[in-house]
Amino acid sequence: MKILVLNAGSSSHKAALFDFEQGQTALWRAQLDWTHTDEAVELKAETADGREHQDVLATQDKVQGLSWMLNQLVDSPVQVLPSLDAIQAVGHRVVHGGRDYQQSTPVTPAVKDAIKALFPLAPSHNPANLQGIEAMEKILGSVPQVAVFDTAFHAQMPAAASTFAGPYEWVEKGIQRYGFHGISHRYVAHRAADLMGRDLKDLKLITCHLGNGCSLAAVRDGMSVDTTMGFTPLDGLMMGSRSGTVDPGVLIHLMRHEHYTADQLDTLLNKESGLKGISGLTNDMRQVSKVAEQGSDRAQLAADMFIHSLRRHIGAMLGNLGGLDALVFTAGIGENSTAIWQAACANWDCLGLALQSGELQRAKADQDIAAPESKVRVWVIHTQEEWAIAQDCVKILAA
Ligand code: ADP
Repeated sequence: MKILVLNAGSSSHKAALFDFEQGQTALWRAQLDWTHTDEAVELKAETADGREHQDVLATQDKVQGLSWMLNQLVDSPVQVLPSLDAIQAVGHRVVHGGRDYQQSTPVTPAVKDAIKALFPLAPSHNPANLQGIEAMEKILGSVPQVAVFDTAFHAQMPAAASTFAGPYEWVEKGIQRYGFHGISHRYVAHRAADLMGRDLKDLKLITCHLGNGCSLAAVRDGMSVDTTMGFTPLDGLMMGSRSGTVDPGVLIHLMRHEHYTADQLDTLLNKESGLKGISGLTNDMRQVSKVAEQGSDRAQLAADMFIHSLRRHIGAMLGNLGGLDALVFTAGIGENSTAIWQAACANWDCLGLALQSGELQRAKADQDIAAPESKVRVWVIHTQEEWAIAQDCVKILAA
Protein backbone atom coordinates (compact mmCIF):
# COMPACT_ATOMS: atom_id res chain seq x y z
CA MET A 1 0.00 0.00 0.00
CA LYS A 2 1.49 3.34 -1.08
CA ILE A 3 1.00 6.13 1.43
CA LEU A 4 2.00 9.73 1.01
CA VAL A 5 2.72 11.67 4.18
CA LEU A 6 2.63 15.45 4.21
CA ASN A 7 4.04 17.63 6.95
CA ALA A 8 3.11 21.22 6.20
CA GLY A 9 4.82 24.05 8.07
CA SER A 10 4.63 27.82 7.70
CA SER A 11 7.77 27.97 5.57
CA SER A 12 8.21 24.43 4.25
CA HIS A 13 6.37 21.32 3.11
CA LYS A 14 7.95 17.95 3.77
CA ALA A 15 6.62 14.85 2.05
CA ALA A 16 7.47 11.16 2.18
CA LEU A 17 6.15 8.20 0.23
CA PHE A 18 6.03 4.80 1.90
CA ASP A 19 5.27 1.40 0.51
CA PHE A 20 3.77 0.07 3.72
CA GLU A 21 4.63 -3.56 3.00
CA GLN A 22 8.28 -2.59 2.51
CA GLY A 23 8.62 -1.01 5.96
CA GLN A 24 9.76 2.28 7.30
CA THR A 25 12.34 3.36 4.75
CA ALA A 26 10.59 5.96 2.62
CA LEU A 27 10.75 5.24 -1.13
CA TRP A 28 10.95 8.98 -1.73
CA ARG A 29 11.30 12.13 0.32
CA ALA A 30 10.91 15.72 -0.79
CA GLN A 31 10.92 19.14 0.73
CA LEU A 32 9.65 22.49 -0.54
CA ASP A 33 11.35 25.55 0.93
CA TRP A 34 9.03 28.54 0.53
CA THR A 35 11.65 30.95 1.89
CA HIS A 36 14.01 30.34 -1.05
CA THR A 37 13.13 33.79 -2.51
CA ASP A 38 10.03 35.99 -2.41
CA GLU A 39 9.01 34.72 -5.83
CA ALA A 40 10.22 31.13 -6.01
CA VAL A 41 10.10 27.86 -4.14
CA GLU A 42 12.97 25.39 -3.92
CA LEU A 43 12.54 21.63 -4.10
CA LYS A 44 14.93 19.00 -2.79
CA ALA A 45 14.04 15.35 -3.31
CA GLU A 46 15.74 12.00 -2.85
CA THR A 47 14.90 8.34 -3.28
CA ALA A 48 15.70 5.30 -1.17
CA ASP A 49 17.98 4.06 -3.96
CA GLY A 50 20.16 7.16 -3.69
CA ARG A 51 18.91 9.44 -6.49
CA GLU A 52 18.75 13.15 -5.67
CA HIS A 53 17.15 16.10 -7.39
CA GLN A 54 17.05 19.82 -6.72
CA ASP A 55 15.07 22.46 -8.60
CA VAL A 56 13.42 25.85 -8.31
CA LEU A 57 9.97 26.92 -9.50
CA ALA A 58 8.92 30.55 -9.89
CA THR A 59 5.79 30.46 -7.78
CA GLN A 60 4.61 31.20 -4.25
CA ASP A 61 1.26 29.52 -4.93
CA LYS A 62 0.98 26.58 -2.52
CA VAL A 63 -1.23 24.36 -4.67
CA GLN A 64 1.01 24.92 -7.68
CA GLY A 65 4.12 24.18 -5.62
CA LEU A 66 2.66 21.02 -4.08
CA SER A 67 1.41 19.82 -7.45
CA TRP A 68 4.93 20.32 -8.84
CA MET A 69 6.41 18.42 -5.89
CA LEU A 70 4.05 15.46 -6.40
CA ASN A 71 4.76 15.48 -10.11
CA GLN A 72 8.36 14.60 -9.24
CA LEU A 73 7.02 11.21 -8.14
CA VAL A 74 6.06 10.34 -11.71
CA ASP A 75 8.16 12.50 -13.99
CA SER A 76 11.64 13.51 -12.82
CA PRO A 77 15.08 12.08 -12.02
CA VAL A 78 13.55 10.94 -8.70
CA GLN A 79 10.55 9.19 -10.24
CA VAL A 80 9.30 6.22 -8.20
CA LEU A 81 5.68 5.80 -9.36
CA PRO A 82 4.10 5.07 -12.75
CA SER A 83 1.26 7.49 -11.96
CA LEU A 84 -0.18 9.43 -9.03
CA ASP A 85 -3.12 6.96 -9.06
CA ALA A 86 -0.78 4.58 -7.22
CA ILE A 87 -1.13 6.70 -4.04
CA GLN A 88 -3.77 5.00 -1.89
CA ALA A 89 -3.87 7.36 1.08
CA VAL A 90 -2.44 10.63 2.31
CA GLY A 91 -1.56 11.17 5.96
CA HIS A 92 -1.18 14.69 7.33
CA ARG A 93 0.56 15.90 10.43
CA VAL A 94 -1.91 18.36 11.96
CA VAL A 95 -0.45 20.31 14.83
CA HIS A 96 -3.56 21.14 16.87
CA GLY A 97 -6.53 18.83 17.33
CA GLY A 98 -7.96 20.67 20.33
CA ARG A 99 -10.11 18.76 22.80
CA ASP A 100 -12.28 17.07 20.21
CA TYR A 101 -9.63 15.13 18.31
CA GLN A 102 -7.84 12.83 20.70
CA GLN A 103 -6.72 10.38 18.05
CA SER A 104 -5.97 10.18 14.36
CA THR A 105 -9.05 10.44 12.18
CA PRO A 106 -10.13 10.28 8.52
CA VAL A 107 -10.43 13.76 7.02
CA THR A 108 -14.08 14.80 6.61
CA PRO A 109 -15.67 18.24 6.18
CA ALA A 110 -16.23 18.29 9.99
CA VAL A 111 -12.55 17.56 10.64
CA LYS A 112 -11.55 20.35 8.27
CA ASP A 113 -13.91 22.72 10.09
CA ALA A 114 -12.36 21.71 13.41
CA ILE A 115 -8.82 22.31 12.11
CA LYS A 116 -10.00 25.72 10.93
CA ALA A 117 -11.68 26.54 14.22
CA LEU A 118 -8.32 25.90 15.90
CA PHE A 119 -6.41 28.43 13.73
CA PRO A 120 -6.24 30.93 16.62
CA LEU A 121 -4.54 28.30 18.82
CA ALA A 122 -1.93 27.28 16.23
CA PRO A 123 -1.69 30.25 13.86
CA SER A 124 1.54 29.26 12.16
CA HIS A 125 0.67 25.57 11.73
CA ASN A 126 -3.03 24.69 11.42
CA PRO A 127 -3.65 27.00 8.41
CA ALA A 128 -0.74 25.35 6.57
CA ASN A 129 -2.04 21.89 7.56
CA LEU A 130 -5.52 22.63 6.20
CA GLN A 131 -4.03 24.15 3.07
CA GLY A 132 -2.07 20.88 2.57
CA ILE A 133 -5.25 18.81 2.93
CA GLU A 134 -7.16 20.99 0.46
CA ALA A 135 -4.27 20.99 -1.98
CA MET A 136 -4.19 17.16 -1.92
CA GLU A 137 -7.96 17.11 -2.60
CA LYS A 138 -7.37 19.27 -5.66
CA ILE A 139 -4.37 17.32 -6.90
CA LEU A 140 -5.32 13.73 -6.02
CA GLY A 141 -9.13 13.90 -6.05
CA SER A 142 -10.93 11.52 -3.71
CA VAL A 143 -7.93 9.66 -2.26
CA PRO A 144 -8.63 9.01 1.46
CA GLN A 145 -6.83 11.41 3.77
CA VAL A 146 -6.07 11.00 7.45
CA ALA A 147 -5.27 13.72 10.01
CA VAL A 148 -2.73 12.75 12.67
CA PHE A 149 -2.65 15.28 15.48
CA ASP A 150 0.43 16.39 17.38
CA THR A 151 -1.71 17.06 20.45
CA ALA A 152 -3.42 13.64 20.52
CA PHE A 153 -0.83 11.69 22.53
CA HIS A 154 -1.23 14.16 25.39
CA ALA A 155 -5.03 14.20 25.30
CA GLN A 156 -5.36 11.73 28.19
CA MET A 157 -3.24 13.77 30.60
CA PRO A 158 -4.83 13.98 34.05
CA ALA A 159 -6.79 17.20 34.58
CA ALA A 160 -4.30 18.24 37.26
CA ALA A 161 -1.58 18.24 34.58
CA SER A 162 -3.60 19.83 31.77
CA THR A 163 -5.34 22.58 33.75
CA PHE A 164 -3.70 25.96 34.23
CA ALA A 165 -4.03 27.56 37.63
CA GLY A 166 -5.93 30.57 36.25
CA PRO A 167 -9.62 31.19 36.77
CA TYR A 168 -11.91 28.18 36.29
CA GLU A 169 -13.50 29.80 33.20
CA TRP A 170 -10.31 28.90 31.33
CA VAL A 171 -11.28 25.23 31.61
CA GLU A 172 -14.62 25.98 29.95
CA LYS A 173 -12.92 28.05 27.26
CA GLY A 174 -10.38 25.35 26.42
CA ILE A 175 -7.48 27.44 27.71
CA GLN A 176 -5.40 24.55 28.99
CA ARG A 177 -2.21 22.57 28.46
CA TYR A 178 -2.47 20.59 25.20
CA GLY A 179 1.14 19.63 24.58
CA PHE A 180 2.74 19.08 21.16
CA HIS A 181 5.30 16.87 19.37
CA GLY A 182 2.92 14.04 20.32
CA ILE A 183 3.58 12.02 17.17
CA SER A 184 7.28 11.97 17.99
CA HIS A 185 6.85 11.34 21.75
CA ARG A 186 4.46 8.47 21.01
CA TYR A 187 6.74 6.93 18.37
CA VAL A 188 9.91 7.03 20.51
CA ALA A 189 8.07 5.75 23.60
CA HIS A 190 6.80 2.71 21.68
CA ARG A 191 10.17 2.20 20.06
CA ALA A 192 11.95 2.33 23.43
CA ALA A 193 9.55 -0.29 24.82
CA ASP A 194 10.19 -2.52 21.77
CA LEU A 195 13.95 -2.12 22.12
CA MET A 196 13.74 -2.95 25.85
CA GLY A 197 11.53 -5.97 25.15
CA ARG A 198 8.93 -4.57 27.55
CA ASP A 199 5.27 -3.59 27.36
CA LEU A 200 5.02 0.21 27.19
CA LYS A 201 2.19 0.02 29.73
CA ASP A 202 4.72 -1.24 32.33
CA LEU A 203 7.30 1.49 31.75
CA LYS A 204 7.92 4.95 33.14
CA LEU A 205 9.71 7.10 30.59
CA ILE A 206 10.73 10.67 30.00
CA THR A 207 10.96 11.38 26.27
CA CYS A 208 13.03 14.42 25.26
CA HIS A 209 12.25 15.82 21.80
CA LEU A 210 15.07 18.31 21.27
CA GLY A 211 15.00 19.94 17.83
CA ASN A 212 14.37 23.56 16.91
CA GLY A 213 11.27 23.16 19.05
CA CYS A 214 11.91 21.26 22.28
CA SER A 215 9.55 19.42 24.63
CA LEU A 216 9.50 16.63 27.18
CA ALA A 217 6.78 14.10 27.90
CA ALA A 218 6.35 11.95 31.01
CA VAL A 219 4.98 8.60 29.82
CA ARG A 220 3.27 6.18 32.19
CA ASP A 221 0.72 3.42 31.52
CA GLY A 222 1.43 3.88 27.81
CA MET A 223 0.32 7.51 27.68
CA SER A 224 1.59 10.99 28.24
CA VAL A 225 0.80 12.09 31.80
CA ASP A 226 2.66 15.38 31.68
CA THR A 227 4.44 17.49 29.11
CA THR A 228 6.34 20.75 28.97
CA MET A 229 4.60 22.51 26.07
CA GLY A 230 1.28 24.06 26.91
CA PHE A 231 -1.58 25.91 25.27
CA THR A 232 0.86 26.71 22.47
CA PRO A 233 4.27 25.25 21.53
CA LEU A 234 5.92 28.17 23.34
CA ASP A 235 5.90 26.83 26.89
CA GLY A 236 8.47 24.73 28.70
CA LEU A 237 12.06 24.21 27.62
CA MET A 238 14.31 26.87 26.17
CA MET A 239 14.35 26.31 22.38
CA GLY A 240 16.09 27.48 19.21
CA SER A 241 14.28 30.79 18.91
CA ARG A 242 11.42 30.30 21.43
CA SER A 243 11.75 31.40 25.03
CA GLY A 244 10.02 28.48 26.70
CA THR A 245 8.61 29.27 30.12
CA VAL A 246 9.06 32.86 31.28
CA ASP A 247 7.41 34.61 34.19
CA PRO A 248 4.11 35.93 32.72
CA GLY A 249 4.78 39.05 34.79
CA VAL A 250 7.51 39.94 32.28
CA LEU A 251 4.86 40.17 29.54
CA ILE A 252 2.62 42.39 31.68
CA HIS A 253 5.64 44.58 32.37
CA LEU A 254 6.51 44.85 28.66
CA MET A 255 2.91 45.71 27.74
CA ARG A 256 2.48 48.20 30.54
CA HIS A 257 5.84 49.96 30.44
CA GLU A 258 7.20 49.36 26.95
CA HIS A 259 3.84 49.32 25.14
CA TYR A 260 4.38 46.01 23.40
CA THR A 261 1.50 44.78 21.24
CA ALA A 262 0.38 41.14 21.08
CA ASP A 263 2.03 40.76 17.66
CA GLN A 264 5.32 42.18 18.94
CA LEU A 265 5.28 39.83 21.93
CA ASP A 266 4.49 36.94 19.61
CA THR A 267 7.52 37.73 17.44
CA LEU A 268 9.75 38.38 20.45
CA LEU A 269 8.93 35.13 22.24
CA ASN A 270 8.66 32.84 19.20
CA LYS A 271 11.35 34.17 16.89
CA GLU A 272 13.82 36.29 18.82
CA SER A 273 14.30 34.39 22.05
CA GLY A 274 15.85 31.07 23.11
CA LEU A 275 19.34 30.19 21.84
CA LYS A 276 19.03 32.91 19.22
CA GLY A 277 17.93 35.64 21.61
CA ILE A 278 20.63 34.93 24.18
CA SER A 279 23.53 34.21 21.81
CA GLY A 280 22.53 37.08 19.52
CA LEU A 281 23.58 34.84 16.65
CA THR A 282 21.54 31.84 15.68
CA ASN A 283 18.89 29.34 16.73
CA ASP A 284 21.13 26.48 15.61
CA MET A 285 22.65 24.49 18.49
CA ARG A 286 25.66 23.35 16.46
CA GLN A 287 26.58 26.98 15.69
CA VAL A 288 25.94 28.12 19.26
CA SER A 289 28.22 25.37 20.60
CA LYS A 290 30.92 26.19 18.07
CA VAL A 291 30.90 29.91 18.83
CA ALA A 292 30.84 29.19 22.57
CA GLU A 293 33.98 27.07 22.15
CA GLN A 294 35.59 30.01 20.34
CA GLY A 295 35.09 32.13 23.45
CA SER A 296 31.74 33.91 23.03
CA ASP A 297 30.28 34.55 26.51
CA ARG A 298 26.76 34.98 25.17
CA ALA A 299 26.86 31.75 23.19
CA GLN A 300 28.24 29.98 26.28
CA LEU A 301 25.44 31.43 28.40
CA ALA A 302 22.86 30.26 25.83
CA ALA A 303 24.34 26.73 25.87
CA ASP A 304 24.47 26.69 29.70
CA MET A 305 20.88 27.91 29.94
CA PHE A 306 19.70 25.20 27.54
CA ILE A 307 21.20 22.54 29.81
CA HIS A 308 19.84 24.17 32.94
CA SER A 309 16.35 24.34 31.44
CA LEU A 310 16.54 20.71 30.26
CA ARG A 311 17.63 19.40 33.68
CA ARG A 312 15.06 21.51 35.48
CA HIS A 313 12.20 20.21 33.33
CA ILE A 314 13.39 16.60 33.52
CA GLY A 315 13.19 17.05 37.28
CA ALA A 316 9.70 18.51 36.96
CA MET A 317 8.53 15.51 34.89
CA LEU A 318 10.01 13.10 37.44
CA GLY A 319 8.01 14.57 40.27
CA ASN A 320 4.72 13.19 39.00
CA LEU A 321 6.05 10.11 37.23
CA GLY A 322 7.06 8.24 40.37
CA GLY A 323 10.09 6.43 38.98
CA LEU A 324 12.06 6.25 35.76
CA ASP A 325 12.88 3.21 33.61
CA ALA A 326 14.34 5.15 30.71
CA LEU A 327 15.22 8.59 29.47
CA VAL A 328 14.85 8.91 25.70
CA PHE A 329 16.54 11.51 23.50
CA THR A 330 15.29 12.33 20.01
CA ALA A 331 15.18 14.99 17.20
CA GLY A 332 18.13 17.03 15.85
CA ILE A 333 19.85 17.89 19.13
CA GLY A 334 18.64 14.81 21.00
CA GLU A 335 19.82 12.39 18.30
CA ASN A 336 23.18 14.00 17.69
CA SER A 337 24.64 16.00 20.52
CA THR A 338 26.85 13.81 22.69
CA ALA A 339 27.55 16.92 24.81
CA ILE A 340 23.83 17.33 25.57
CA TRP A 341 23.50 13.63 26.50
CA GLN A 342 26.39 14.00 28.94
CA ALA A 343 25.18 17.25 30.42
CA ALA A 344 21.51 16.27 30.66
CA CYS A 345 22.39 13.01 32.44
CA ALA A 346 25.17 14.39 34.63
CA ASN A 347 23.18 15.05 37.80
CA TRP A 348 20.99 11.99 38.00
CA ASP A 349 23.29 9.58 39.83
CA CYS A 350 20.79 9.95 42.68
CA LEU A 351 18.47 7.84 40.46
CA GLY A 352 21.18 5.30 39.75
CA LEU A 353 21.50 6.66 36.20
CA ALA A 354 24.98 6.21 34.73
CA LEU A 355 26.15 6.66 31.16
CA GLN A 356 28.61 4.35 29.44
CA SER A 357 32.19 5.13 30.33
CA GLY A 358 34.48 6.52 27.63
CA GLU A 359 33.54 8.79 24.78
CA LEU A 360 29.91 8.54 23.65
CA GLN A 361 29.44 8.04 19.94
CA ARG A 362 26.59 8.95 17.65
CA ALA A 363 25.18 6.04 15.68
CA LYS A 364 22.84 5.55 12.75
CA ALA A 365 20.98 2.92 14.72
CA ASP A 366 18.95 3.62 17.83
CA GLN A 367 21.19 2.96 20.84
CA ASP A 368 21.22 2.61 24.61
CA ILE A 369 23.99 4.84 25.96
CA ALA A 370 23.55 3.90 29.64
CA ALA A 371 26.20 1.90 31.50
CA PRO A 372 25.34 -1.81 31.92
CA GLU A 373 24.82 -1.29 35.67
CA SER A 374 22.65 1.84 35.26
CA LYS A 375 19.24 1.59 36.94
CA VAL A 376 17.80 3.89 34.25
CA ARG A 377 18.31 3.11 30.56
CA VAL A 378 19.15 6.06 28.30
CA TRP A 379 18.03 5.62 24.70
CA VAL A 380 18.91 7.72 21.68
CA ILE A 381 16.14 7.04 19.19
CA HIS A 382 15.79 8.49 15.72
CA THR A 383 12.27 9.82 15.53
CA GLN A 384 10.19 8.66 12.58
CA GLU A 385 7.19 10.96 12.60
CA GLU A 386 6.32 10.37 8.96
CA TRP A 387 6.41 6.60 9.41
CA ALA A 388 4.20 6.92 12.51
CA ILE A 389 1.70 8.90 10.43
CA ALA A 390 1.78 6.26 7.66
CA GLN A 391 1.11 3.54 10.27
CA ASP A 392 -1.91 5.46 11.57
CA CYS A 393 -3.23 5.81 8.01
CA VAL A 394 -3.10 2.07 7.49
CA LYS A 395 -4.79 1.35 10.84
CA ILE A 396 -7.55 3.85 10.19
CA LEU A 397 -8.23 2.76 6.65
CA ALA A 398 -8.28 -0.88 7.69
CA ALA A 399 -10.87 -0.01 10.37
P1 ADP B 1 13.14 20.75 13.56
O1 ADP B 1 12.53 20.94 14.92
O2 ADP B 1 13.12 22.00 12.72
O3 ADP B 1 12.69 19.51 12.83
P2 ADP B 1 15.61 19.29 14.01
O4 ADP B 1 14.96 18.18 14.73
O5 ADP B 1 16.24 19.01 12.69
O6 ADP B 1 14.68 20.56 13.87
O7 ADP B 1 16.75 19.89 14.97
C1 ADP B 1 17.51 21.01 14.62
C2 ADP B 1 18.51 21.26 15.73
O8 ADP B 1 19.35 20.11 15.86
C3 ADP B 1 19.42 22.45 15.45
O9 ADP B 1 19.58 23.23 16.62
C4 ADP B 1 20.73 21.77 15.10
O10 ADP B 1 21.85 22.57 15.39
C5 ADP B 1 20.68 20.57 16.02
N1 ADP B 1 21.68 19.57 15.66
C6 ADP B 1 21.75 18.81 14.54
N2 ADP B 1 22.89 18.08 14.56
C7 ADP B 1 23.54 18.37 15.71
C8 ADP B 1 24.77 17.97 16.31
N3 ADP B 1 25.57 17.10 15.73
N4 ADP B 1 25.10 18.50 17.50
C9 ADP B 1 24.31 19.41 18.10
N5 ADP B 1 23.14 19.83 17.60
C10 ADP B 1 22.77 19.33 16.41
